[in-house]
Amino acid sequence: MKICIDPGHGGTDPGAIGTAPAAAGEPALTLKECDFTLDVALLLEEELARRGHSVLLTRRRDRSRQLAARAAHANRHAADLFISIHANAAANPAAEGIEVFHFPGSAAGKSVADRIMRHLAAAFPDHVNRGVKSADFAVLRLTAMPAVLVECEFLTNPDWLRRFLSCPGKRREIAGAIAAGVATCPEALPAVKAAAEPAPARTYIVQAGDTLSALARRFGLTVDTIATDNAISNPDLIRIGQVLRIRSS
Ligand SMILES: [Zn+2]
Repeated sequence: MKICIDPGHGGTDPGAIGTAPAAAGEPALTLKECDFTLDVALLLEEELARRGHSVLLTRRRDRSRQLAARAAHANRHAADLFISIHANAAANPAAEGIEVFHFPGSAAGKSVADRIMRHLAAAFPDHVNRGVKSADFAVLRLTAMPAVLVECEFLTNPDWLRRFLSCPGKRREIAGAIAAGVATCPEALPAVKAAAEPAPARTYIVQAGDTLSALARRFGLTVDTIATDNAISNPDLIRIGQVLRIRSS
């Protein structure tokens, strides 16, 4: 598989910043989310490459990159899977746990998220499993392929900041668990994200002589996309007067 890893934040956007006070002979600690995500992304790249995947990253150093540019990078390189790495933050310092997001209605995204969450939960049984959730995050919405976003614990929890997120060995374990989850995915993930919420910009009423392939060309979409968005099982069977939902291309 070709996998695009997205280390969240970077450059002028450090993401969340975690701090833990000096305690029990340990010095005070500060960790920027963008540094954590890049480190885990590079470890994950190693793990995935070792398993024979071809890997690309949306950034390899501390630099700014727009969310749309990250998704465009993955789309341009025709990645099969997009994995965004983040660490969580909350006002309540007791908030804790690991969670994985997919785009609402993306069955393929959910399947990958389930697999990764299962492996993270198995690798870190002492962490709260916040489960698999859907969210309309830009990098999940704008990527053409199945996409997941992993929130690896809370930077704002001083305990997990010190014992987990700041620990190089744990970062390698996180990367290993994500890679192990990916390893259980079928070789051929659906090329098109099957979104149940395609947010169509318009509708089209089928006229005499229309074919799905001609409509696909006209709207700059694939036959599969229109068929999926409209739950058409046989692309040869559209009828005059049928109202099609046409998403923005
Ligand atoms: Zn983040």
